[in-house]
Amino acid sequence: MTPMEKFGPNGVDMAPEPLYAEAQASLAHSTAGSQTRASSERHAACSCGQLRLRVSGDPVRVSICHCLACQRRTGSAFGFQARFRADRVEVTGRSREFLRASDEGENRTFRFCPECGATVFYTTAGAPELIAIPIGAFADPDFPAPAFSVWERRMHVWVQAPQDSHRSP
Ligand SMILES: [Zn+2]
Ligand SMILES: [Zn+2]
Repeated sequence: MTPMEKFGPNGVDMAPEPLYAEAQASLAHSTAGSQTRASSERHAACSCGQLRLRVSGDPVRVSICHCLACQRRTGSAFGFQARFRADRVEVTGRSREFLRASDEGENRTFRFCPECGATVFYTTAGAPELIAIPIGAFADPDFPAPAFSVWERRMHVWVQAPQDSHRSP
């Protein structure tokens, strides 16, 4: 627990998920806990199916984030997302943007379907070469498990991160 914890105007953690240096590092080696599905293709979509993604290859990083901003965004206990290289992601359909700046001033842009409101992907100014996709958009229970668990000081008490994941407070 750090004395430098910061909160936004609504009591929401405004700090970013501290992951991009790690994401860069993890480009070099395979993601722990993930199943290799070489040259695989995956499809993600919003609730109504208007906004769709086609993704090729394996994710660079699969993580869960327990921060309050992710809880607000997802309506769930934690965010669960995968990062892919942007050039591996093909977007079809209309989206609107919601921009949220972290306390460090880094913009993250969430793209959601204007019809059903589901966020299907987002990007961060600090790592424009990566696109993050909420795992739920894949509707795939076989998606690889998260290798990283971050913001655990905001983790709901009943949640247990995967034992072999890299965990940070
Ligand atoms: Zn939709
Ligand atoms: Zn988060």
